[in-house]
Amino acid sequence: MAKLKEEGVKVGLAVIIVGDDPASRVYVNNKKKACEEIGIYSEEYALPSEATEQEVIDIINTLNERDDISGILVQLPLPKHINETNIINAISYKKDVDAFHPVNVGKIMTGDFDFLPCTPAGVMELIKESGVSVEGKECVVIGRSNIVGKPQAMLLLHQNGTVTICHSKTKNLKEVTKRADILVAAVGRPKFVTADMVKEGAVVIDVGINRTEEGKLVGDVDFENVKDTAYAITPVPGGVGPMTIAMLMKNTVKAARLLANK
Ligand code: NDP
Repeated sequence: MAKLKEEGVKVGLAVIIVGDDPASRVYVNNKKKACEEIGIYSEEYALPSEATEQEVIDIINTLNERDDISGILVQLPLPKHINETNIINAISYKKDVDAFHPVNVGKIMTGDFDFLPCTPAGVMELIKESGVSVEGKECVVIGRSNIVGKPQAMLLLHQNGTVTICHSKTKNLKEVTKRADILVAAVGRPKFVTADMVKEGAVVIDVGINRTEEGKLVGDVDFENVKDTAYAITPVPGGVGPMTIAMLMKNTVKAARLLANK
C-alpha cells in the first residue's frame, strides 16, 4: 500500500448496503475492517430498506465518476423491490470488484479477466494451499449460482480440471460427488455433504454459511464426519469466508492500478 501511495495511486472501496439484514451487516463490517487493516480508504452508504432502485443507482453513478474510489460493492441480497441486475449493470465494470458485471462475467468465461469473483478465487487459493494440483482432477461443484457455483466451475476448468456442476435437479448426487478429487460445496444447506458422499482423500472446500436455530454458524459440509475421509477440508467459520475478503482487497488494489494505468 505504501508503494501505491508513493506512486500516487488512490485505492478506495465504497460499500453500499440497503436494509438491515444482520448477516449482510456482519459481512459489510468485516470488509470495512479488512480495509482499515491494510490501509485501504473505505466509505459506507447504509440506506434504509425502503430506498428506491434509483437512489442506489444515483449513488453508484457518483461513485463511478470519483477518482478516489477504485472499487464499488453493493452488498447482496437487496430488498425485493430493487432489481439486482439493474444495480450490478450500473456499476462501472472497471470498479466492479465483485466481478458480477456482465463484462467481467464474460471475461471470466473467455479467461481474459481483470478481476476474479471473490469467493471462487478464494476457493482456488485454498486448493492451491492444499498442495493439490487441479489439472486432470475430477472436480465437482455443488451449486450453480452466478455468484459462486458457475464461476467456480469456470475457474476450475481454466486450471484444467474435469468439472461437473451439480444442482437441485441432479440425479444420484452421491454417485457424482463420490467421484470428486476436489469437491466444492456451495449449496446453502447446513451439513448437506456427509461422509458417504466424499471420496477417500478428496480435497473438500465448504463455501456454505448457514446459521442453525441455536445461532451457530455451520457450513454445507458435515465437518466432523467428513474430516477423516478428506485429505484436506476447510472449516466454517474460517476457511472460505476470510479468503473471500482477502480476494476483495486484492481486486480493489488491482482496480486502482488499472484505473491509474500502473
Ligand atoms: P444459491 O441459493 O444461489 O445457490 C444454491 C445452489 O445449490 C443452487 O444452484 C441450487 O440448485 C443448489 N442446491 C440446492 N439444493 C440442492 C440439493 N438438494 N442438491 C443439489 N444442489 C442443491 O446460493 P449461493 O451460491 O449464493 O450460496 C451458497 C452458499 O454459500 C450459501 O450458504 C451462502 O451463504 C454461501 N456463501 C458464502 C460466501 C463466502 O464468502 N464464504 C459467499 C457467497 C455465498 P438450483 O440451481 O437447482 O436451485
